[in-house]
Amino acid sequence: MTLMTGKEYRESLSERKPLKIYLLGEKIENPVEHPIIRSSINSVALTYELAQDPKYKDLMTTKSSLTGNTINRFCHIHQSTEDLMKKVKMLRLLGQKCGTCFQRCVGMDALNAVYLTSFDIDKKYNTNYHQRFKEYVKMVQDKDFVIDGCMTDPKGDRGKRPSQQKDKDVFFHLVERKEDGVIVRGAKAHQTGAVNSHEHLVMPTLTMRNEEKSFTICCAISADAEGVSYYYGRQSCDLRWLDQCEEGRIDCGNQFGGQECLVVFDDVFVPNERVFMNGETDFCGRLVASFAGYHRQSYGGCKVGVGDVLIGAAATAAEYNGVEKASHIRDKITEMIHLNETLYSCGMACSACGEKTPSGNYLIDIMLANVCKQNVTRFPFEIARLLQDIAGGLFVTCPSAKELKNPETRKIIEKYLAGAEGIDTVNRIKIMRLVENLVIGRAAVGYLTESMHGAGSPQAQRIMISRLANLEEKKKLAKSLAQINED
Ligand code: SF4
Ligand code: FE
Repeated sequence: MTLMTGKEYRESLSERKPLKIYLLGEKIENPVEHPIIRSSINSVALTYELAQDPKYKDLMTTKSSLTGNTINRFCHIHQSTEDLMKKVKMLRLLGQKCGTCFQRCVGMDALNAVYLTSFDIDKKYNTNYHQRFKEYVKMVQDKDFVIDGCMTDPKGDRGKRPSQQKDKDVFFHLVERKEDGVIVRGAKAHQTGAVNSHEHLVMPTLTMRNEEKSFTICCAISADAEGVSYYYGRQSCDLRWLDQCEEGRIDCGNQFGGQECLVVFDDVFVPNERVFMNGETDFCGRLVASFAGYHRQSYGGCKVGVGDVLIGAAATAAEYNGVEKASHIRDKITEMIHLNETLYSCGMACSACGEKTPSGNYLIDIMLANVCKQNVTRFPFEIARLLQDIAGGLFVTCPSAKELKNPETRKIIEKYLAGAEGIDTVNRIKIMRLVENLVIGRAAVGYLTESMHGAGSPQAQRIMISRLANLEEKKKLAKSLAQINED
């Protein structure tokens, strides 16, 4: 099998050995049926469902460079700049369809980053990580798996290096080396889609020093491996999902959600064939920068797709309020479009300027990918501000959907919350709830907080931008034009 359907994906999650998941004080036995978790599974399932739709085949599927089989693009090793651009277009499409984080991109980004880094390590150290990794990728492609790209360690005291921490476990590390594998321990924080994944691809979280070899480990761990547990993150408005009535669904905003977890690895055994880096500290920088670069490119797609939904919600709210022709409303919507398309331009530019790596896959232009993500830390906030401006305050003052169930209260609501003539009041409420979800609810976690901190907080991009800028060259340009000769 190389392409699962959405239904098969859901079934494959249930086929895993029981996971240890903690959510709201409970150990969750069946995540697939849990009302809070289910919405996040709906988002990932879309990556399978759209791959089955002939309309989206060109974006959602491709030919594997390793087996020649048709595979989901989320499992692909990029073979050209066209592949990189199609990735951005695919992520925009998915953002448009679910209006939140669909979680599967971190795995695609990790696969490509480990692919190119394992090749470089082998070249220097004569190891066989790359061949091992190719076999692993073939398995992932063949099974159409969701991979959780695991990079962010909890980090403890930020002023100290991994080896200086009082509790070393705040950085993922090697505990013991055995003949047939390794034992690892630690945790990964803010893991997008962790419970909805089949595998974790664990990478070091930062550039390591020579004495930090035990923290320099990259390996694959099954989601249901012995010793792995999950601490499910709360999201704003997540309890709305416990309300199952049809009217209650209006209050949820939409049926899709994101997911973040703290994943703990407690003395997990990893067989040698699943280890792709083990102590080669000089390659941590390459792995971290390429993974972060790929993921910073991703944001130029997914956030743009969600941005399209915000723009659509703004235009619809304006229409329902009867103000769509007002010149200031039109101008604000134009500004939202301009900001959103600027992000898309960045995503496409870093893809178009990508280059082939020695391993054969394609890497985005790292400078432009960092500029892309730096803009993503700002523009969605302005887009969300304009949406709130246009929607009006009703998106936070609207009575509950249950009031629509009672004929007496419904009558009052329909009378006093009516908008433009001919507009159904319930539709007006629905769009307000979507706005709430996008700017302060569950989807805001994906659209705003993730835009700020996902794929690295703003300062991480500024460091890369200043490092890659080659200021000395720019000074030479200026001096040459000013006819300054200092030799
Ligand atoms: Fe994908 Fe965007 Fe979610 Fe990252 S934030 S996993 S790029 S949808
Ligand atoms: Fe993210």
